[in-house]
Amino acid sequence: MDDDKHTDLEKLKEECMNCTACELCSGRKNVVFGTGVPDAEVMFIGEGPGEQEDIKGEPFVGKAGILLDKMLAAVDLDRNKNIYIANIVKCRPPQNRDPKPEEQEHCIGWLRRQFAVIRPKIVVCLGRIAATRIIRPDFRISKEHGQFVSKGGVLMTAILHPAALLRYPENKPAAFEDFLSLQEKIKTVCERTYGNDDI
Ligand code: SF4
Repeated sequence: MDDDKHTDLEKLKEECMNCTACELCSGRKNVVFGTGVPDAEVMFIGEGPGEQEDIKGEPFVGKAGILLDKMLAAVDLDRNKNIYIANIVKCRPPQNRDPKPEEQEHCIGWLRRQFAVIRPKIVVCLGRIAATRIIRPDFRISKEHGQFVSKGGVLMTAILHPAALLRYPENKPAAFEDFLSLQEKIKTVCERTYGNDDI
């Protein structure tokens, strides 16, 4: 593990824990900063914490998170080993509504700073909100999921949100295809994710 990145992320987390920059701070139980390895080459970005995430202080730990972990495991990805997961907003929007543009605007600085420390080679947006914020405002998740674009030297893609897959399980095969494409892309542009830095 990269000790400098670990230290920098811990410092950033400490700072973020006290953030009261938007109204979402008033209803939170926990700030959900992010989780994973600090020198990850692949970073997943969701929209915001739900109920379970708010309680536990970790992203993607409810039913959708369990599904995400299973799909990640199928392509040898693991939040404890080789990826990092964060959200656009760090505090739970009430009733799991979409984060408002002004809340996203207030919070995105934390994500930018996480990104600056981790410096991933691949960014994977989880669902429409993250994709329209990170990739392109008119990104159409239903048509463009799984496609890669290069932005500022970073490869970016979006996959269907795991919560949407729970609601529409008929879309799981398409989502799995996207994970397989992601695995192939990782093999071509990342050196450490699959432990192949000596190839
Ligand atoms: S959502 Fe983000 S900007 Fe708003 S209070 Fe929480 S950490 Fe701060």
